[in-house]
This record gives sequence, structure tokens and C-alpha cells, in this order.
Amino acid sequence: MDLDSMIVGAGVSGLYMLHRLRGLGHATVVLEAGDGIGGTWYWNRYPGARCDIESLEYSYSFSEDLQQEWHWPDRYSLQPDILRYVNHVADRFDLRRDVRLATRVTRATFDEVARRWTIETDTGSVLTATYLIMATGCLSVPRVPELEGLEDFGGRWYHTGAWPHDGVDFTGRRVGIIGTGSSGIQAIPIIARQARHLTVFQRTPNFSVPAWNGPLDPDVEASFKADYGANREIARRSDSGTTLEASTTPTHAMAPEVAKAELERRWAQGGFNMELVFADETTDANANAIVAEFARRKIRDRVKDPAVAALLCPTDHPFATKRLCVDTDYFETYNRDNVTLVDIRAEPIARATPAGVRTAAREVALDDIVFATGFDAMTGALMAVDIRGRGGQSLRAAWAAGPRSYLGLMVAGFPNLFTVTGPGSPSVLSNMMTSIEQHVEWIAACLGHLRDRHIRLIEPSAETEQRWTDHVREVGDQTLYPRANSWYMGANIPGKPRVFMPYVGGVGAYRTICEGVAEHGYEGFALAS
Ligand code: FAD
Ligand code: NAP
Repeated sequence: MDLDSMIVGAGVSGLYMLHRLRGLGHATVVLEAGDGIGGTWYWNRYPGARCDIESLEYSYSFSEDLQQEWHWPDRYSLQPDILRYVNHVADRFDLRRDVRLATRVTRATFDEVARRWTIETDTGSVLTATYLIMATGCLSVPRVPELEGLEDFGGRWYHTGAWPHDGVDFTGRRVGIIGTGSSGIQAIPIIARQARHLTVFQRTPNFSVPAWNGPLDPDVEASFKADYGANREIARRSDSGTTLEASTTPTHAMAPEVAKAELERRWAQGGFNMELVFADETTDANANAIVAEFARRKIRDRVKDPAVAALLCPTDHPFATKRLCVDTDYFETYNRDNVTLVDIRAEPIARATPAGVRTAAREVALDDIVFATGFDAMTGALMAVDIRGRGGQSLRAAWAAGPRSYLGLMVAGFPNLFTVTGPGSPSVLSNMMTSIEQHVEWIAACLGHLRDRHIRLIEPSAETEQRWTDHVREVGDQTLYPRANSWYMGANIPGKPRVFMPYVGGVGAYRTICEGVAEHGYEGFALAS
């Protein structure tokens, strides 16, 4: 099958990309490995899976009718509600007919003579397309760490990112969960309520802030919708891709009493508001330490046993240099009689056994193990495909020392290949809906520009790519982010290069850069007809 464009992935990125490319008149197909659409919200069905961005903002903005008509039940949406929404969008815009499910792309090769991509899949089909758009997601390759003896474990085990579709009943069972990132922190309170006993195996404590979630207030909904367009524009021009109001005052300019009140005010607002207390919160270690200590004090307030509270207090990374967790009753869960916290830095897990898990200090009998151990983030899904550009060079080789790109959108040596929310763009540091829409719209406008001028080839120069890659690193180095062993740094995957992958210059500033590049005739890109 010969196409104008091929999209890989039917999450919120791929589906919107399809909609925009239809608008250009492109013959387009979306290939999706899963049996259904929705990406993240299709795969991550673990108990408590929920959005950390408010519902009114974690949604598409491209259709005024859609955003006005859709009603979100909660301030922060549950996974089934988001999945229902994505399915509604697919039906409303008649997207399904160009989506092929249960089809994994395994290889993509650029033919320099035909100037087209040849795409191979695990079903044996071969397609060709002028443009290849990878909408494969930043958090779509779940990672189960090596655990000796897992094959002999007599119970059931699951990864949060590949959860069974008919759910899991933990009633009466002894459950162990490994991992206390966002997924673990959401799942732990819910599993604890159902299980006979829950053992949490924690390697690194994490900062988490209450969501203060609840039903969406009808007055808030009405007033936000009354100005939906303006609110979206604020989000697009902000650092975070949201309408949350960021502080412009650095710590040293705030009197201690004012700072204290501000911390409490932000805490009461909940969620990512805590990242925005001081203008220098993620750039100045002293400013950050004030917020970190405030957050630790809140943990000590929430957890009754001081020894358990101490274990739950993060001390090895600055506040918000890992994606901040947004929780409902996470720390309070450790006040329950049926929950045990095991610090696996002090007593590492030695192996799984037929009856449970053995640590350096004890045997823990378990019926179920839940891995909330994260993903091979940002590069994992791209590197999983054998992508070959000019001269047969592979993306895996090009990125062996860490990802390189121009604007997180294209890679030198790989013409006509686009990455939605690729490394080198703000993506995972933001409300990803805002970043996804921006990328999709930029790519669609770019392809419209090429079509109108009968141009068939676009590719960044190696120099431009180097400059942008250096810029991404320099901006990252001006912040505290590289101090954390986060998945932003590739630190969660043994052997992965330690590189700060997203662009931390801010969603709005980044958008302006991308707009400038387009206005100047796609500056930094080589275009050929
Ligand atoms: P995805 O949703 O990851 O979709 C990519 C799709 O590509 C997947 O369906 C995958 O199966 C498919 N795919 C990958 N490789 C191939 C291949 N080789 N062949 C065929 N198909 C392939 N972001 C926020 O901003 N706020 C949140 O609160 C938030 N919560 C999250 C919660 C969880 C549990 C996770 C994992 C992520 C969360 N994110 C959140 C990030 C989230 O991934 C994005 O917001 C968004 O959903 C990404 O959409 P996407 O379409 O780009 O990627
Ligand atoms: P994660 O943040 O990478 O957390 C993984 C957890 O597993 C960490 O606590 C990690 O410990 C632990 N771990 C990993 N390997 C381990 C091992 N071998 N032994 C013991 N512990 C191990 O993954 P995640 O929680 O799935 O979240 C990933 C991202 O998805 C989030 O940061 C966020 O962007 C998104 N997400 C968002 C939400 C939301 O609130 N809406 C929910 C879920 C996910 P270390 O810290 O020591 O590595």
C-alpha cells in the first residue's frame, strides 16, 4: 500500500495527527500495536490510574464544539473517563476507518532513490509512505526489572503499564508492589483498601502532593468554558502547558512570612501548583530546599509512625526534579494496619520465590506482585523499531550516546521522519495534551507548506541538530533536573546514557521558537523537491 503519510501509534497524538493529515488530503494510515485506541489510557488500567492535569486542560483544544460539549465528571480524570473521551473523539471525527489495530511496526527503512519510507510490521504487511510520523509515546514501553526467580513465583504478577482489561480482584490476597513513582503512588491506596495485606517495596521515596480531587465543580466548569479559547491560549504560552499561575518572584525577594503563606496557599491548591511557588524553584538549590523541606514536613504530618514517615521522606533529589506525583491519600495509606513499607535500599530484594519475595532480611509471603517500575521512557518506543535512514544508518546507532534531534521533531540523516513529543521537546515536562497539539499542528503545517511548494523532502542539517542538542543540554544544565536519577535522565534503565532528554525551556518559549522556524521558511531544515 502506498501512502502519503504513515502514523505509528493510536494514542492522543496519532489520532489527532490523522485528523490533521486528512485535512491536507493525505492518504494516511495509523498502525497501532494494541487491540484498541487510546495509547497510555488504553494500556494503563491499574487501580487508581488518573490524570495529574486537571480534566478541563487535559483534553483536545482543536474543536470548540468538542470542548464545550464534553463534560468531565472529576476535577482530575480517571483512566476509564479519558479512554471513553478518546473513543468519543475517534467516532466524532470518523477516525477509526484509517486505524489498523494489533499491528506493530518492526522496521522502517528510507529508500533514498524513491524518497519514501518502507514500513514493515509484525503481521507481515509492508507499506510505503512519503512521510513517517512516530506517535509512539514517551511512556509506552513498560519495564519489568530483572527479578531472579520470577518464573517460579507461584502467584500472579502484573505491570501497571500492561494491566489486564478485565481488572484484577485483590480481595483477600497478600499483595506486594515494587515501585513508588506516580503509578505506584496512585495504585497503593486503592490496592490497600482491597487486599488482605499490601507490602510496598520502596527503593526511593518520592515527593507527592495531594490532588484534592473531587467532582468537577459546575461553576468552575462554566467559568472555564466561558473563556475556553483564552484559557487554552494561556496554557499554550505558559511554561507548563497549563493555566496554572507561575510565580515570578524568586525566593530571595520574598519575606519568610510571605514565603510560608505562599507554600501553604499552593499546597491548598494541590498538584502542580507546588512546582510554581518560587520563580527559582527548579534552578536554585536553596529555593528548592525550602519547598522540599515543606513537602517533607507534610509527609511527617500525614504519617503517624515517625519511623515510617522518615523512610517516606525523599532526600536524594531536589523537589520536582522527578515528575511530581499527585496523590489521593497516598501517605495516609501507611497508617493502615494492613500495609507494610519495606525499604529495599536497606534490605534489597534478593529474588522471587515460589511463595513470594525474599529480601536480604526476610521472606515476604505474597499471592500477587505488582510492578509499578516504570518505562523505557522517551526513546524506548522509537529505538524498539529498527529505523534506518540515509545510507542504512540506524536510529539506534545515531542515538547510542543519547537522543539527538532538531526541536525534538526531526533527526539528521532521517528525512521525512517526524517524532511527536520526541526527546529535545518539552513533552513530558508539561501538560502533554498542549505539547502534543503543538507538535501535531506544527507537523501538519509543515507538510502543507511542502505540498503547496511541490517539495518532497525535509531534513534538518547535522549542524542545526548539533546546535539544538547542545541548547537542550545547556538549558537543562541551568536547572536542578540533572541531579535526580530520574527517567528524564534515562537513569531508570541500566546502561542507558545519562542525558537529560526533554527541553526545559518552557512550552510557550519553545512554541515561539518553532513558530519562528516555520515563519523563516523552515530555517535549519534542508528542503528538496
Ligand atoms: P501514547 O499514549 O503512549 O500512545 C502511543 C501508542 O503507540 C501506544 O498505543 C502504543 O501501543 C503505540 N506504539 C508504540 N510503538 C509502536 C509500534 N512499533 N508499532 C505500533 N504501535 C506502536 N501526561 C500528562 O500530561 N498528564 C498526565 O496526567 C499523564 N498521566 C499519565 C499516566 C500514565 C500511567 C502514563 C504512562 C503516562 C501519563 N502521561 C500523562 C503521559 C501520556 O503518555 C501522555 O499524556 C499522552 O497520553 C501520550 O499520548 P501519545 O499518543 O503521544 O502516546
Ligand atoms: P517511574 O516514575 O519510573 O517509577 C518507577 C518506580 O519503580 C520508582 O519508584 C523506581 O525506583 C521503582 N523501580 C524501578 N526499577 C526498580 C527495581 N529494579 N527495583 C526496585 N524498584 C524499582 O514510573 P511510573 O510510576 O510508572 O511513572 C512514569 C511516568 O508516567 C510518571 O513520571 C508520569 O510522567 C507518568 N504517570 C503519570 C501519572 C499521573 O499521575 N497521572 C500516573 C502514572 C504515570 P527509583 O526511583 O529508585 O528508580
